[in-house]
Amino acid sequence: MVLDKPRPAEEEPLQLGDIPEPTPGQGEIRVRVRVCGVCHTDLHIVQGELPMHKRPVVPGHQVVGIVDAVGPGAKGFKEGDRAGVIWLHSTDGSCEYCRRNSENLCVNAQFTGYDVNGGYAESVIVPADFAYHIPQSFSDESAAPLLCAGVIGYRSLKLSGAGKSDRLGLYGFGASAHIVLQIANHMGCEVYVFTRAAAHRELAQKLGAAWVGDAKEGPPQELDAAIVFAPAGPIVLDALRALRKGGTVALAGITMTPIPEMDYSLIYGERVVRSVANSTRQDARELLELAAEIPVRTEVTLYPLEDANRVLADMKHSRIEGAGVLRID
Ligand SMILES: [Zn+2]
Ligand SMILES: [Zn+2]
Repeated sequence: MVLDKPRPAEEEPLQLGDIPEPTPGQGEIRVRVRVCGVCHTDLHIVQGELPMHKRPVVPGHQVVGIVDAVGPGAKGFKEGDRAGVIWLHSTDGSCEYCRRNSENLCVNAQFTGYDVNGGYAESVIVPADFAYHIPQSFSDESAAPLLCAGVIGYRSLKLSGAGKSDRLGLYGFGASAHIVLQIANHMGCEVYVFTRAAAHRELAQKLGAAWVGDAKEGPPQELDAAIVFAPAGPIVLDALRALRKGGTVALAGITMTPIPEMDYSLIYGERVVRSVANSTRQDARELLELAAEIPVRTEVTLYPLEDANRVLADMKHSRIEGAGVLRID
């Protein structure tokens, strides 16, 4: 499915198209795509809320497939191996941020399904160093949401500073939050979920949320940490209102509507607001290992590739529980 001109998901911005089969270059592998998860970032790309970096482009950055070609010098994978592909396609390895061990902030980073073609297609090219082995216990479709929703959620959880016995707030309950909830429970956090959709509330309860309610009403007790998944600026203030002194609100989204002006008292008391940008390869490896160990159960709805526009529209209107995943066959 190819994006040429961004427009609202309901207007079917993605069209089926034929593109020549790519050949892996130096250090790269080609992955025959079996499934590709649909992420909120894909929605921002197809609707033009993020500027296009490549035109046309094939979106999709939660790919699970089988390696069917190995370029010269590519290490760690052979033909027939199962491989996962995530948002971070490559880095320069040499900029100030890469040298500081923050490759997620690399100034020359390229992203899958944005700077290079992604997984809403039959095959995808990735540097072998930026591909991942998928733990055997996961099926293709159950692994797909781990690759962005899981990885970014996991990084957000780390940056929120939440630890054992802490009260953690999750604002919004989609693909990412339903994975983070399980990891946070495993870590011994008490998880408070803020979401309006009845189906999302039900899923949060089923997965072990300590409390489920509305962002406006606030939690029954102060939170030690919070993660905002919903791309709505006013929610940042709701989260700050619920947060204890010294606590952190981590913002997991790649875009957000403007954050309203606020009184200094909301953030005073050494409260911290920080964004989360992309992920490192280490984040992805840790998350995959942890997800297998817990084990995390992903709630997945499978769709044929041709339905990509509909899945994006459903995601936009919170009509998907858990994660939407496209099947390519
Ligand atoms: Zn760099
Ligand atoms: Zn994503």
